[in-house]
Amino acid sequence: MQTRRLGRTNLQISIVGFGGTWISEIEKSAAVDIVRRASELGINYFDSSRWDGDSEEKIGCALKDTRNQCIITTKTGSRTKKESLEDMKNSLRLLQTEHVDIIQLHGIDDEKTLTKTMSSDGALQTCKEAQRKKLTNFIGITGHKPQILTKAIKTGEFDTVLVPLNIITRQAEEELLPLAKDLDVGVIAMKTFSAKTSNLITCMYKPSLSLLSDEPELKALLGQNNTEMVQSLLRYNLSKNITSTLTGLRSIAEVETAAKVGTNYQELTDIEHKRFNFKLETYCRDCGLCMNCPEKINIPAILRFNSFYSVYGLKNWAQKLYTGLDIKPDKCALCGLCQQKCPYNLPIKHMLKETHEKLTINSF
Ligand code: SF4
Ligand code: SF4
Repeated sequence: MQTRRLGRTNLQISIVGFGGTWISEIEKSAAVDIVRRASELGINYFDSSRWDGDSEEKIGCALKDTRNQCIITTKTGSRTKKESLEDMKNSLRLLQTEHVDIIQLHGIDDEKTLTKTMSSDGALQTCKEAQRKKLTNFIGITGHKPQILTKAIKTGEFDTVLVPLNIITRQAEEELLPLAKDLDVGVIAMKTFSAKTSNLITCMYKPSLSLLSDEPELKALLGQNNTEMVQSLLRYNLSKNITSTLTGLRSIAEVETAAKVGTNYQELTDIEHKRFNFKLETYCRDCGLCMNCPEKINIPAILRFNSFYSVYGLKNWAQKLYTGLDIKPDKCALCGLCQQKCPYNLPIKHMLKETHEKLTINSF
């Protein structure tokens, strides 16, 4: 398994990391076997969270005898000092360890939450106290909005940042990744296989927003079977300026496939670079600032489907996803509130109209 340096933490971590979310849905002994197999194959970065069901308990059980060979991280989703202190105590108990390598603030997706967690009564204070007491070595932050994470790492308080990144979720590449490099903040990517964003829950959509969907256009982009698709997605992320990309692994076979990519990883070829090189010009960054449309139109979701259609050539998939939306842009009252809030000055009203015309499936 290849490793890279995780920014200023100086930790050497496996380029493929273990995301703990899904093992909470797996029976305990099977989950423990999956985690141990990952460790055997050289995956040394295990990410969990207080919010991820019983993933901490399963990871703790699996790694208790090899603790000093692994990097174990967790997250607190609590925003206050008092609640996050409880989280920290519970995490250490369930993970069966005296310290975690990194404690992360979980899901910081808007400025209000960032301000609250960083206040004198906020969860960051617990993380700092834990660091002083050697209950954690480093402090990180996670979220789905690169522009919020960019603000956060500028404060100098965070050693690592965990952010969505994949072939069709590239917002982090614009500002966050270059800044993290300059500040020597370690970057870990998540949502490697998922087009999910914070305001779109994968399971609410049919077809799924998983990039491993059985959609012909996704196969044309990523590969003809799941193994090829997994390889393309992992390799795309690893070609970026990140340390590791997390995968939510649910079986021994998935662990072995992902670990093989991490062991044999080589730079993308010129042909692959060309295949994955999409030009994003006027596009929605999913910052969410326009989300309170009086007509309840989910603007970022609609514009995202527009990008799938127009930029990535995922036309049928985009149309199917669009069809699943309850409220379409034909309900737009043209009030213009969204455009006033968009920091990227997008002509939202025009883009919505254009998207509706393109993505509506003509039934006759
Ligand atoms: S212009 Fe349309 S989409 Fe924008 S806030 Fe008004 S009603 Fe909603
Ligand atoms: S349309 Fe503009 S304000 Fe709305 S989510 Fe996209 S980038 Fe943000």
